[in-house]
Amino acid sequence: MKTIGLLGGMSWESTLDYYRAINEGIKDKLGGLHSAQIAMYSVDFAAIEKLQHAGDWQGTAKILITAATNIQAAGADFLLICTNTMHKVAPEIEAAIDIPVLHIADATAEILVDQGIQTVGLLGTAFTMEQDFYKGRLSDHYGLKVLVPKQQDRDIIHKVIYHELCLGKIASDSKAEYLRIIGSLADQGAQAVILGCTEIGMLVKQADTDTQLVDTTMIHAEQAVKYAIM
Ligand code: GLU
Repeated sequence: MKTIGLLGGMSWESTLDYYRAINEGIKDKLGGLHSAQIAMYSVDFAAIEKLQHAGDWQGTAKILITAATNIQAAGADFLLICTNTMHKVAPEIEAAIDIPVLHIADATAEILVDQGIQTVGLLGTAFTMEQDFYKGRLSDHYGLKVLVPKQQDRDIIHKVIYHELCLGKIASDSKAEYLRIIGSLADQGAQAVILGCTEIGMLVKQADTDTQLVDTTMIHAEQAVKYAIM
């Protein structure tokens, strides 16, 4: 079995979900007392969040490169960056290490393409919904048409991520807002909606809506399990 590198802490709330899903996946596949071999480095999210909102992406890259280098030195065979947003600096991280990075947008897009989905909604931080590092990858590499919520709704989604979900707070009024926004993306033609932030699965579940939800945390974790035992 390969050793899975996890660059976590963004936020630690969702890193917990990765840790559990990966270990459960290995247990399902290998049975008995098998569990995942993991080398994890969990950063202080307060520092990352400050740099993100100041637009200092090179500052975030510096912290994540140090973490990734340590994960490689700890024996990881490949790396997962356990957040969608910080894939903005995935190219810098990839360039600084020798082990492969399993890109969260690729893992997600492959599933959508397999299912024949062509138009997809995207929820995530403002950075993920508005910048090209993520949306552009889905459309340019996979031919997906990506719909994002209108500005006012993007603000709601972003605020709930940083002020509630990353702090472990689950609020029913926020859940209702998310479900309204998911419904409106479906009305505009989205065949599925990507939960493109690793904490959103804490708030909305597939049972809450008829629209197909694509949880990036679970997809990324499943791909890591597959890759680890390949
Ligand atoms: N975990 C979130 C994501 O998947 C947001 C936190 C972050 O900015 O990294 O984008």
